Amino acid sequence: MDIKIIKTTQPKEKQAAEKLAFGVTFSDHMFVMDYTEGQGWHDPVIMPYGPIQLMPSSMVLHYAQEVFEGLKAYKTPQGEVQLFRPEENFKRMNRSNERMCIPQLDEEFVMNALKTLVKMDQDWIPTSPGTSLYIRPFIFATDPFIGVRVSQTYKFMIIMSPVGSYYKGGLAPCRIYVEDEYARTVRGGTGEAKCGGNYAGGLAAQEKVHVKGYEQILWLDGEKRQYIEEVGTSNVFFLIDGVFVTPSLEGTILSGITRKSVIELLKSWGETVVERRITIDEFYELHQQGKIQEAFATGTAAVISPIGTLGWQDKEMTFNNGEIGEYTQKIYDTLYGVQSGHIKDTLNWIVRV
Ligand SMILES: *Cc1c(COP(=O)(O)O)cnc(C)c1O
Repeated sequence: MDIKIIKTTQPKEKQAAEKLAFGVTFSDHMFVMDYTEGQGWHDPVIMPYGPIQLMPSSMVLHYAQEVFEGLKAYKTPQGEVQLFRPEENFKRMNRSNERMCIPQLDEEFVMNALKTLVKMDQDWIPTSPGTSLYIRPFIFATDPFIGVRVSQTYKFMIIMSPVGSYYKGGLAPCRIYVEDEYARTVRGGTGEAKCGGNYAGGLAAQEKVHVKGYEQILWLDGEKRQYIEEVGTSNVFFLIDGVFVTPSLEGTILSGITRKSVIELLKSWGETVVERRITIDEFYELHQQGKIQEAFATGTAAVISPIGTLGWQDKEMTFNNGEIGEYTQKIYDTLYGVQSGHIKDTLNWIVRV
């Protein structure tokens, strides 16, 4: 399948690096490909970024049959363009597809499409510290039909957004609140899939903690409301008495690529990482004993977010005096260093475009 290329005749103006917010502006081009049952994926095209036409009856608008991914492209100090573990994103997208009854993608084909798109818009990759080009592949159901069933047509798209540093003025520890009313997902639900519906369902909890003066939610498991699962849309790690602990993947947690990378990195440093279930009661007890040394969240958007304070019911737990921990900083520096080409990629994570 050849990708048709339609170049923009009106390149947009790029924003200065210091003005870049997250996910607000988009590059000149996007990738679009359609799926029709019986025909498979067809008509791949790279075209100017812009509005698309959809029937109001498009199934995604009613029943949310949709999946997405997020990854980043960087420009190294030598001017080379690189992606961080992109094959992991397309593998995960196919796992999400399976869960949401969306047809599988040819991972090699979409990787090639992504590289072609990134190459075309490589001038959109910002280079100042902390910046990158955020890439959003997504698939949604387009059958013009009102009724709950699997769609027979889909659109796969990739759009790209130059993004600034998640942190203005370095890594700032955030305030997180333990959500014990709303649930993100349950076993057998869609928590393991990166699908839009999971996020709409979490908004009410997010609003609630904002009012309380916290930035993010720590989700507990949906059944017992005891086990620690994730922080907002990130995975979570704790340094407990010299051992790194992260919740094990039990079908409700999204298997983060940053999570996987942090585990591999720590192991390469000779650290002990334990994937296990941990309850909020046990965690509180460990904190009382002074054993929680550091806490941080991991995800593509922010890479590493230090957690300074964790609110739970009427209690507040503070880690490392509310300051960024030594390991948290070192993990961020190393990951971001490899991603942006400032540090040698010894674990084979980088794909050159
Ligand atoms: C995307 C996401 C993550 C982080 O995954 P990465 O691959 O590290 O970006 C964690 N939790 C949820 C719910 C997510 O959607």
